[in-house]
Amino acid sequence: MTVVVRFAPSPTGYLHVGGLRTALYNYLFARKHHGRFILRIEDTDQSRYVEGAVENLMKSLRAMGLDWDAGPDKNDEKGPYFQSQRLSIYQKQITRLLETGKAYRCFCPHERLEALRKKQLTAGQAPGYDGVCRNLDPSEAEKRAHTESHVIRMRIPDEGSITFHDEIRGDVTVDFHRIDDQVLIKSDGFPTYHFANVVDDHLMGITHVIRGEEWLPSLPKHLLLYDSFGWEPPRFAHLPLLLNPDKSKLSKRQGDVAVEEYLAKGYLPQALNNFLALLGWNPGTDQEIFSMEELIDLFSLDRVNKAGAVFNVEKLNWMNQHYIQAMDETAYLKEAKKWISPHRLNERADIALLTVKNSLVRFDELPEKLKPFVSEPTELTEGEGAELMKNETTPHVLQSLRETLIQHPLEKPEDFFALMKTVQKETGVKGKNLWMSVRLALTGEIHGPELGIIAYYLGKEEIIRRVESALRKM
Ligand code: GLU
Repeated sequence: MTVVVRFAPSPTGYLHVGGLRTALYNYLFARKHHGRFILRIEDTDQSRYVEGAVENLMKSLRAMGLDWDAGPDKNDEKGPYFQSQRLSIYQKQITRLLETGKAYRCFCPHERLEALRKKQLTAGQAPGYDGVCRNLDPSEAEKRAHTESHVIRMRIPDEGSITFHDEIRGDVTVDFHRIDDQVLIKSDGFPTYHFANVVDDHLMGITHVIRGEEWLPSLPKHLLLYDSFGWEPPRFAHLPLLLNPDKSKLSKRQGDVAVEEYLAKGYLPQALNNFLALLGWNPGTDQEIFSMEELIDLFSLDRVNKAGAVFNVEKLNWMNQHYIQAMDETAYLKEAKKWISPHRLNERADIALLTVKNSLVRFDELPEKLKPFVSEPTELTEGEGAELMKNETTPHVLQSLRETLIQHPLEKPEDFFALMKTVQKETGVKGKNLWMSVRLALTGEIHGPELGIIAYYLGKEEIIRRVESALRKM
C-alpha cells in the first residue's frame, strides 16, 4: 500500500507554526514510507476568505523545504487541490447520503436555532440541534428544497456509541447522544469542513490522517460519515497541542505564531524544522540536532507524545545559533549578505561578517552586531572611556599610530599587532593605556571584536580619519 498523506490547511492568512509542525510530520511520514504528501486547501468557508492567503501559505511551505507532491494518482497534476473547485463532487456525494437517509434536509430558521442554542447554554447543556426536521417526509423535503433556504445535516444514530483507534491516543469511545446532527452542506450550497474533509480524504486515497489534536473531537462524526458511505476509513493520528510556556494553548498574544515572522527574524528553515520535529515527537535518545534525512529516517508515529509540547523560544534560539555556527563560510556569507544593505560594509565585508558569526542567534541581529565595524565612534563625554581618553598619554599614542600607519603595511589583521608594537616602542606606553585609547578612537566603545580585525576592516585611510577626529576632540 502506498502511503498518501495530506496537509489540509484553511487559508487564514499565514502559516501557523502549529500548522507547519503538522505539515512537517506529514512530510516526514510520507518521505519515510516513499509515499505522497498532498496539499489540499480547505477553502469552503466563504466568510473567511483572505486575499493572498494561499500564496502566502505555499510560499512559507516552500521556504521551509516542504514541497508537496502530485496526487493521489501518479498521473495527477501537482496540487494544491482547492476544495472550492470541487463543489460538484460534494454535491454528488451528498445525494447518496440523502437517498439512504443518512442525511436529511433541515429548514429550521437561523433565529430559532440561535434561540435554542442560547437556551441550551443557559441551562448548562451542550448546544446541539433538537431534531425538528429529522423526520420530515423525504419527498416533501425535496419539494421544499427548490424554494426554501435550508441546510443538510447528518443523521447521528439515536443510540449506541462508536469506538475508534487513534495511533497516538489509543482507543476512544464516544456515545452517539453526545454527537450533534452536524451540518454537512450549508445554505449557500458549500460543504462544511467535516463533509468536504471526509469526502476528499476518501477520494484522494489518504491512508493516514495526521493532524492537530483540536480535531480529535470531530473524529466520531468523521467515522460515522465513512460508515454512512460504506467507506474504509484511513488511520488517524492526532498530534499534541503546542503550548505557551504557561501551558496555555499557543497564542499570538504570547509570541509570534506565523512561520513568516520566524523567517523574517532570521531563523533558518532547518533550525525551525528541527525544533518543531521535537515538539511532540521524540527520537528515543537524547540527540537533539537532526538533519532532514535523519528525521525522515527516524520519524514514526509511535514516538509522537500525547502530552502538549511547550514552544520554548530559548530552545529554538539555541538551535538556530547551532545551525548558524555549523554553516560553512560560503553558505554563511551568502545568507548574511541578504540581511544587510549592500553599501553598509566596505570591500572587506567578509571579515566583519565572519567575526560576528559565532555570536549570532538570529540573522536579524546582524545590523546590531556589525555596529562596531560600521558606526562612527560617538564622542565620549563621561564614563570609563572618557576618562581614558583624557589620559595624557593618549594623544601621543594616537599621533604615533598615525605616523606608523603611513609607513607600515596593513594587509591582514595580524599586521596591526606589529604596527602597535612599533607604537608601543615609540611612545613607551603599553597595556590598557595603549590598547584602550586606540580602541576608543576607532570604535568609541570599551569592548568589541578583536582590534586587529576592526583595524584591518577599516583600512588605513579610515583609521587615520578616525584618529585625527579623536585628536581634534582632545
Ligand atoms: N482545514 C483543517 C485545518 O485547517 C484541516 C484539519 C484536518 O487536517 O483534517 O486545520
